[in-house]
Amino acid sequence: MTNIATTLLAQLDNTSLRQLRGIAAVAEIHGAQTYLVGGAVRDALLGLPVADIDITVVGMTSGLPRGVARALNGRVVAHSQFNTFAINAAGRHIDLAMARHESYTQPGALPTVVPGTIQQDLARRDFTINAMAVSISTGSFGDLLDPFQGQADLEAGKVRVLHDESFRDDATRILRAARYAVRLGIELEAHTEQILRRDASYLDTISPSRLRDEYMRVLREGRAVSTIEMLHTLGALRPVHPALTLSGEMLAALRRAEQTTHADTHLIYLCLLSHSLSQSERQSLIIRLALSSDQAEAINDTGFVADRIPELEQELSRSEIYLCLREFSEASILACALISNDSAASQSMMLLLDELRHIRTTLNGNDLVALGVPQGPRVGVLLHELLVARIDNEVKTRQDEIDFIQARL
Ligand code: ATP
Ligand code: MG
Repeated sequence: MTNIATTLLAQLDNTSLRQLRGIAAVAEIHGAQTYLVGGAVRDALLGLPVADIDITVVGMTSGLPRGVARALNGRVVAHSQFNTFAINAAGRHIDLAMARHESYTQPGALPTVVPGTIQQDLARRDFTINAMAVSISTGSFGDLLDPFQGQADLEAGKVRVLHDESFRDDATRILRAARYAVRLGIELEAHTEQILRRDASYLDTISPSRLRDEYMRVLREGRAVSTIEMLHTLGALRPVHPALTLSGEMLAALRRAEQTTHADTHLIYLCLLSHSLSQSERQSLIIRLALSSDQAEAINDTGFVADRIPELEQELSRSEIYLCLREFSEASILACALISNDSAASQSMMLLLDELRHIRTTLNGNDLVALGVPQGPRVGVLLHELLVARIDNEVKTRQDEIDFIQARL
């Protein structure tokens, strides 16, 4: 049995280590065994810091999660199906799950779940590199369980499924495969790639919310653009939705988006991927991925902004640009600017985002009333005119604004 205690200790900070010891101690009292599983083991073996702690418990008891939370001075924040618990302690998130045995009755459906051994729990996982467990119990701390030779695949740089039906059982693994390959700079093992291409159409069997979650995880990856590119090359983008494709022009815009410092880069990617869709294709994409209202708005706005590009190609005043675009979300405007790279329209969009959007009048509604504007709709109309004058640099100071209002009374 390989023991990776030293490797593991090097990648855990003191808080995590103390928490692991605490979990193991409580589990022992309950007669249960505990293992660190999945990404934590993979990342520790790669010499990467271990961020999320995922624990699998063999012999879960009903009192164990609360006992662990108490021992760590934390609390159980979620309890989901199949005896899976989330614990928050010392600002950390810990997942505690019962070891389980799964069987799939139908592609894409949720599996049938019963309590299982640690070996059965590892056998239900997506890839060999994610199907390793390390004991954290006191007597065997650091013992590595690696029934599918995940460590060898990590060293050889291969993403490999555990069996030939894997993508049919759960086609979200197609998106996951590309994420790990790109993130870790490794490749799909040849046979895995072959069956991934064969089974890409099984993405159809995935429910909208699961597909959205995995798709958004792709868009939130550090190297999202390369992941999208890989999915496209594998023929796995179109099965997510038939209208999704990746032109050279889109890829270039995605690469430019990657360089921006915008906080919601994933939304810009979403806008870019949907930018050439028709109105009805956009609606069906929103439904297929059960997108949130923010995400749907970004996609819809992209269509509206794209429709305004001919107008934006004309020579417009600053306020005309503002009035043309002001109601649309930032991500959609940025996406359209990036794809119409350096044209007059894209310059206008960037001007809006960088400058025009941030311009405010110094006077407010109360100030206008104090200057003698009657209460009512006229206040709003004049404030709007004042803003437009500000944007066009016709008024610059507070006194200019007062003069502007008084001239209209
Ligand atoms: P990441 O750094 O992306 O979070 P991770 O390995 O921690 O990587 P999670 O999505 O957090 O990935 O899942 C934790 C573990 O659960 C995985 O390592 C894998 O063993 C298992 N897993 C997750 N999703 C699936 C799936 N669709 N099919 C099979 N196993 C899965
Ligand atoms: Mg994780």
